[in-house]
Parts: sequence; C-alpha cells; structure tokens
Amino acid sequence: MLRPLKILFVTSEVRPLIKTGGLADVSSSLPAALRDLGLDCRILVPGYPAVLEHCGTLTLVATLPTTLLGPARLLAGHMPDTHTPVYVLDAPQAYQRAGGPYLNTDGKDHADNAQRFALLSQVAAQLCGPDNALNWQPDCLHVNDWQTGLAPAYLHFAGHPVPSLITIHNLAFQGVYEAALLSILGLPSESFAVHGLEYYGDLSFLKAGLFYSDWITTVSPRYALEIQNEALGMGMQGLLQQRNHHLTGILNGIDTADWNPGSDLHLTHNFTYRATAGKRRCKAALQAELGLAQSADAPLFGVVSRLTHQKGLDWVLQIAQGILTQGGQIAILGTGEPLLEAGFRQLANQHPKQVAAFIGYDEGLSHRIEAGADLFLMPSRFEPCGLNQMYSQRYGTLPVVRDTGGLADSVSDGVDGFSFTGETAHALWLTVERALAAYHDRPLWRRLQQTAMRKDSSWEKSAREYAALYAQLIAQSQH
Ligand code: ADP
Repeated sequence: MLRPLKILFVTSEVRPLIKTGGLADVSSSLPAALRDLGLDCRILVPGYPAVLEHCGTLTLVATLPTTLLGPARLLAGHMPDTHTPVYVLDAPQAYQRAGGPYLNTDGKDHADNAQRFALLSQVAAQLCGPDNALNWQPDCLHVNDWQTGLAPAYLHFAGHPVPSLITIHNLAFQGVYEAALLSILGLPSESFAVHGLEYYGDLSFLKAGLFYSDWITTVSPRYALEIQNEALGMGMQGLLQQRNHHLTGILNGIDTADWNPGSDLHLTHNFTYRATAGKRRCKAALQAELGLAQSADAPLFGVVSRLTHQKGLDWVLQIAQGILTQGGQIAILGTGEPLLEAGFRQLANQHPKQVAAFIGYDEGLSHRIEAGADLFLMPSRFEPCGLNQMYSQRYGTLPVVRDTGGLADSVSDGVDGFSFTGETAHALWLTVERALAAYHDRPLWRRLQQTAMRKDSSWEKSAREYAALYAQLIAQSQH
C-alpha cells in the first residue's frame, strides 16, 4: 500500500479554537476532509490563550531553537471536534497576551506582529527538516495568508527539499513591515530584492509567500483570474501574472454538518429539500423573533455580513425603499463600518415591521436568518470565495449576488440564485426585481429552491483537488 501523503497545514487561526474570519473555517474543514481521503494532514497553530484552553490534553514534543520571541515549545494534541492532529506553538512571549490573534485590546495591531508570525513561519520551515523534533517529516508544506507567508522563504533558504503551497484567503492583508527587520527575522539580505520579498522598499510577508512557494492557490477559480488584474490585484497583480502557471483557484466547501437544515440545532424547526414545511415555520419564527409583520407571503431578504464597503451593502441601503414598496422585508445581522451600521439602524427604526437590523455577532441568529429568509443579499464588490451564498443555497434561501470571485463560481443566475455584473445600486435593483418576479411564480420558485438545496458544496470535492495538487508538487520536487 502507498503510504499516505504527509501535509503540514500552517495557520494563524482554526475553528473552534480561535476564529476571526473564514480562514479559521477552512483550517478546520480542509485538514479534516483531507484526512477523510486518507492523507496524513496535521495542523500547526500558535498557542494563543484560547488555543491552549480549548485544545484538551497537550503533550510536550520539543523545546525549539528560535531567535525570535523565545523560548518556544511544541505541544501536540488533537482538534476537539475533528480529531485532526494539531501542533501548538507555545511561545508565551509571542502569544500569551490579551486581545485577539492580530489586534490588541485597543483594536490596534500588536506592535510585534512581524516577529510573532515570523516565528510561526520559522518553526513551520524547521519542521520540514529531516532532523526535526517530530519523528514525522511532511512531504508538503501548506501555508495560508500573510501570517505564514515567510515560511516558504525560510524553507527555500534552509534548502529542505519539501515543496510549499500558499493559499490566499484575503489579498487585502499583506503583512508589510520596515526593511530594517530583515536581519532580526533571520532572512539573508539577498531575499530583499524585487525577485524576493521586497515591496516598494519595505518587506512583505505575503509577497515572500507568493514568490518563494512552489504553488499558489486562492479560494475560487474566478478570484484566481481577477487578482491578476489591477482592479483586484492589490498591488500583487504583476507577480501573480508572472506566476500564472503556478496559480489555481479551488473553491472552498462548507461545513455540511454545521450547516444542515435537517439537523441544525439553532432552528426552531428542521427541514430538507423533500420536506420544506419547516422552512415556512422558520420564517414565521424569525419574523416573530425580530418583530417583523407576520406575513407568510412577504418576500423576506436576509443579510449576514461584515458591514464593509467590500460587501456592497451601501447598494442595499439605496434599494431598500424599493424592496419595502414591493411589500418585502429585510433582516440584517452584522457589524462593521459606523456609516453602514447607522444606515441599517435608521432604516429599521423607520420601518420596524418591515426591517430588522441586529448590529452584532450572533451565530445562532445567522443560522435562523439563513433558514427563515426567502432571499439572501450578497452584492459584494469582490469576494474571494464567500460562504454565506452556499449556506443560503443549502437552506433554500436563494442568493442574489454580484458576479465576482467565489460568488460567480457558486451561483448560476436563474438556476440556483440570481447574479448581476454591474457595479451600481441600479444593477442590483434590476436583479432584485427579477428575483421578486420568480418568488411570486410558486412552481418556478420551488424548482429553484430544490436545485439550490440539492447542490453539493461539501469539502470533499475541494479536498480532492488539493490532494491532487500536493501529489503533483511532491512528484515535481523529486525530479
Ligand atoms: P468574510 O470571510 O469575507 O467575512 P464569508 O461569507 O466568507 O465572508 O464568511 C463570513 C462568515 O462569518 C460566515 O460564516 C458568516 O455567517 C459569518 N458572519 C459574518 N458576520 C456575522 C455576524 N454578524 N454574526 C454571525 N455570523 C457572522
């Protein structure tokens, strides 16, 4: 029998130990799905207080030699929900502190983030060496976003023949720091070049990952194309164009156990594509919970989102009156930019029976909105992958999305949702009008819902694509 491929998956957050965004979801689901396919995938994550607290039993593997924010120890355990093996980098000076993984209690970046995440990257590269402390040498190193971007650079200069892959979840965050840090981080001066990690006179962790890795993936095929253009390349488009033959998009899956309308414990009623009576009850329960008028026929639009410019929700504010005039209702859950928060609050105050705005973070309510709404608004200006549109489909709530990034790859207009191409509130409105017309055509609506609910958005397909890519990189590195 072939021995399983060994993959070290390095991440700065992983659910349910620590989460600030979608990266944490991928970091738990993908390694578990890879293990289901028979790969030996293990996670490396920093030992923040929440990680040490929630990880269960951890055993000491090694004390690590490091020049950054030491001392550091490597602990081993298992993920609480999936039982994926996890290595925890326990470096108290780097990670044992108040605040989140990236921000302090004042909401500002930790002043030593460069050292903190260089440490994680350095240890990841060390663990790829033949004489590492693990008695387990990975065949391939998989890193994620800028926080682990230096790992391919460290690996390159250490000369270990292990291929590396970086996944871009969010190109907007690049980990740019002053050049003077280079020697502190233990990188040779030759790395500070256009063909290296230099970025307009500074050093960029993300660019290091994009330059020194053997392969780059991003979280949807469409976004892999879009980031090669100036509009969405965030300054990295030149490098991404150059590396175009080593860049692919693999669409994220969703956690189908967490997001299963048939068994979701956050809901008052469960339902499936065969038996949808529960969905109507969920709508009535949501209307009651949010103080909206109890109307089974009013088309209810849901929004669950960070309230930021990226998400195009200013367009939703602009067309809201049109939706209300047509007898629609809107339920919004989110936090973010003060102007958007205020805009939605004001709308809800003016129309309490038709609009509810919950400004905050509430996982249970996010499930109840997905279940109780008829339509889901996600008109993002850009969207690397997006998860909510796929949750919506599974819950029979048809998404109205902009034709970009992962939204373009997961929603087919008029088949399992609705999409538009323009970049205006008017373009969104024209599509909302089409969606409303479909809503009032009951047989058509039922067909669309069924198609959306039966769609397979599980991780298995994506995990197979990653597994094939690892195998290709490993084969190439052996020639
Ligand atoms: P992004 O990662 O850009 O924020 P995604 O759609 O990829 O967008 O993922 C967002 C995730 O965060 C989803 O799981 C969504 O349900 C959740 N989420 C966002 N805002 C809230 C909120 N206010 N309350 C509960 N869940 C939220």
